[in-house]
Amino acid sequence: MLYLSTRNNKIEKTASQAVLEGLASDGGLYMPKSFAGVEFPMENLAKMGPKEISATVVSLLFAGDEMLKGAGSEYEEAYKLVSKAYDGKFENEDYAPLSKVNDAYVMELYHGPTCAFKDVALQLLPQFIGAAKRATGMEDEIVILTATSGDTGSAALSGFSNVDGVKIIVFYPKKGISAVQERQMVSVDGKNTCVCSVVGNFDDAQSGVKNIFAKLELPKGVQLSSANSINIGRLVPQIAYYFKAYGELLNKNEIKMGDKVNYVVPTGNFGDILAGYFAKKMGLPVGKLVCSSNTNKVLTDFFESGVYNKNRSFYITKSPSMDILISSNLERLLYLTCGDAKCAEYMAQLKEKGEYKLAKDELDKIRQEFDAGFCDDIETIGTIEKVYNEYGYLMDTHTAVAWNVYEKWAEETGNKDKTVVLSTASPYKFSNSVMKALGKSYNGEFDALKKLQEYTGAPVPNSLVNIENKAVFHNVTVEKDDMLDFVSEMVNKKIWHN
Ligand SMILES: *Cc1c(COP(=O)(O)O)cnc(C)c1O
Repeated sequence: MLYLSTRNNKIEKTASQAVLEGLASDGGLYMPKSFAGVEFPMENLAKMGPKEISATVVSLLFAGDEMLKGAGSEYEEAYKLVSKAYDGKFENEDYAPLSKVNDAYVMELYHGPTCAFKDVALQLLPQFIGAAKRATGMEDEIVILTATSGDTGSAALSGFSNVDGVKIIVFYPKKGISAVQERQMVSVDGKNTCVCSVVGNFDDAQSGVKNIFAKLELPKGVQLSSANSINIGRLVPQIAYYFKAYGELLNKNEIKMGDKVNYVVPTGNFGDILAGYFAKKMGLPVGKLVCSSNTNKVLTDFFESGVYNKNRSFYITKSPSMDILISSNLERLLYLTCGDAKCAEYMAQLKEKGEYKLAKDELDKIRQEFDAGFCDDIETIGTIEKVYNEYGYLMDTHTAVAWNVYEKWAEETGNKDKTVVLSTASPYKFSNSVMKALGKSYNGEFDALKKLQEYTGAPVPNSLVNIENKAVFHNVTVEKDDMLDFVSEMVNKKIWHN
């Protein structure tokens, strides 16, 4: 399988190259050249375990690539990468268990090392990068540079910690990150990791990182890369769990082979939900993909009107991982809908005017596959309370956004097909908001975590047990204007920690 830029089909790379580069040279994102013939063997799905499903998806999308050349078949090589990524990292073998809640299913994607769904992709991406480096004979050291408002940073640190030939620098804003998320990051002790807070907000950290990509003079033998969801290597692992949920519904006799299943996805950068669309293109019988947003509802408006307009107020909400005005991966959907030339044109308009408008036939095409909805913080909190009281199921704020949108959508459309709601974070990762929703008092975030466990009796995930006592390994703060100098110094240093 070759990969093309969303903005210019003539830019063609191998999967290994696409994974190592992250972003195409024209600013576009890499896409599989074609989904024709990329068929998941549905007849075997019900018998397959989670790792087998992942390895099947990987071997289909990276077919023929150097990355999967080895002693065994491509599937066997893919299975090795998947095993290295997942064995012993998740709370149980199954990285995406389903829970029945009322008449729907919640797919819990948060049982990994940092309690957010990004673990599923960020445990596997380092394996792809390692394999791609070996395959292409690249000897350069790769420095992963990431700005984070929380979840991406800790998941990326966990995935890349102590991986050979790769180093990772994470910047996070001093303001606007939770105490649990901060401690998760600064307690990572990998010798190849560097975590640094920035005086400012998330936008300052993000602009600083973009500036570094543009301006940093790299020493010989060092390359920068990104762990952001623009990397195709982050999307591929996420496709697997859409198949996995379907296989489980078959085994539970909830559906028959060929029945359509809807998936409702709490969305920020559009990576998670896009993976569901890829699954559909690979033969999964998906009904509607329902894109759910918080008050930053730029995507809801887009699916309604065909106008994407980022010129609007930005809200800090209780589902902060979805607080976003530019959903990078939407570009990949545009490419599939209207081709590279139109896609490049829309992206140029977004950059110049902050806005673009799809033609009616383009929007119609997208509306056949996707629906969208949003809910505000008050509804989010109300949903956590209601779902806990009525069904005894505890969910975090991001999942609650999706559940709220699901209920409104099901009512409005009357759609009766089985539906899977994706759950993207552990309720313990956002215990403050969850405690508020349950009407309970607490004293600070770490106390909220403890009290939440006392109240619900649900076990705290291993990685969050005693989090407030974890030793701090990183303790650097820089001014936003000093980020470039800081990274410049770090990339010239051979050894970061002893
Ligand atoms: C990143 C994240 C999302 C959004 O996922 P996208 O792929 O960016 O759409 C939703 N919920 C949580 C908890 C996240 O960490």
